[in-house]
Amino acid sequence: FWQELKDSYKHDLNPASYDAWVGTAKPLSLIHNQLTIEVTSDLHKRYWEKHLAAKIVEIGFKVTGDEIMPQFVTPDEAPPISIVEKEEPIKIDTTKRAMLNPKYTFDTFVIGKGNQMAHAAALVVAEEPGSIYNPLFFYGGVGLGKTHLMHAIGHQMLAINPQAKVKYVSSETFANDFINSIKNKTSEDFRQEYRKVDLLLVDDIQFFADKEATQEEFFHTFENLYNDNKQIVLTSDRLPNEIPKLQERLVSRFAWGLSVDITPPDLETRTAILRKKAQAENLEIPDDTLSYIAGQIDSNIRELEGALVRVQAFATMNSADITTSIAADALKSLKGTSNAQLSISKIQDEVAKFYHLQVKELKGKKRVKTIVVPRQIAMYLAREMTESSLPKIGAEFGGKDHTTVIHAHEKIRQLIKNDSSMQQEIAEIKNLLLG
Ligand code: ADP
Ligand code: MG
Repeated sequence: FWQELKDSYKHDLNPASYDAWVGTAKPLSLIHNQLTIEVTSDLHKRYWEKHLAAKIVEIGFKVTGDEIMPQFVTPDEAPPISIVEKEEPIKIDTTKRAMLNPKYTFDTFVIGKGNQMAHAAALVVAEEPGSIYNPLFFYGGVGLGKTHLMHAIGHQMLAINPQAKVKYVSSETFANDFINSIKNKTSEDFRQEYRKVDLLLVDDIQFFADKEATQEEFFHTFENLYNDNKQIVLTSDRLPNEIPKLQERLVSRFAWGLSVDITPPDLETRTAILRKKAQAENLEIPDDTLSYIAGQIDSNIRELEGALVRVQAFATMNSADITTSIAADALKSLKGTSNAQLSISKIQDEVAKFYHLQVKELKGKKRVKTIVVPRQIAMYLAREMTESSLPKIGAEFGGKDHTTVIHAHEKIRQLIKNDSSMQQEIAEIKNLLLG
């Protein structure tokens, strides 16, 4: 990882800067995603923090699939050797590399009327990739399990064949990678990356609409994989021919395989999903309460999960067991508002008001602590409570890089873990946002 990082700096910096800043730095340890780097002086430290740290997050994510947080120390601050010796080796596991969410497996997927076809097709494809349904195309509304099933295929294929190369991306990541590869003149790397895989999963391809050049490139990626009998799985919120401005030849190719829709789960399936989640979280919830919650949320499964979290939090705050009446109280205010409708600007407004700041300051670049922390909180909430992608969140905060958003999210996550007053503040803001 360190080597990869150094190579990337070598590429970015002129040789003199490289020698001065990177050449003198030394990685000390990687413990719980915290990468500690020793640098020679405070001056070096500031330079790293300001100019070089974002790269660590970016490369760290690429290599390990985790959000690596850098910390810089000068020699007099460096931890004693004994800690350094306990350093954990960096494990790079294949599922992380493929960008698969460990929770999205077939085991955690509940089968119901609305998704049984999709589930069956997913199983077939995981076991016999590239032969029967190629491409496999899932479509349906948000929060119904398309992404989950897609990851499950990846996990299953890796379980059967650990050597398989699996790659999951959102269509936006594909588009960004492609555009960057042109900018950086690394088209060859891009092609290697996308065409030398056994399974390519591309999520939410409705966002290819209007992206002419990306569609062109994706067409060639598709052709290559297809001709090599490599499996392609795609998702979208609608059928290919309903995606505006999608090239005709893509529409027709997507229809070569199998398209399956996923429809909203019925009450029984929703209850079963809640039961499974409750078990996974070791929550004691009576059956009638589970079906009560399932009855309250009939739109999508992500909101169903949100409702369960809300009920759990409400019960904890009131030191009560989870019962139907507690659930009813917890969900009372949820009616009418939902995370899906929350916008980033609403979050910015609420956070600004809460800290007596102006939205302008949240979107700005000023680095005083009284603004930086609320700004990071707003980014954290935008990531937690909306469906927005990292680049979109960055853009809404005055055009910041997606690595800044990752950094902010991780920072606040840690703060919440370690600081109960911060935890409370954020819970309060969340309540305000949920009305
Ligand atoms: P989509 O990609 O269709 O918008 P996701 O796959 O992101 O939806 O699913 C939203 C959430 O609901 C995820 O946390 C996922 O694990 C969960 N989920 C969806 N369908 C199921 C299911 N059938 N069983 C268990 N959990 C599910
Ligand atoms: Mg999805």
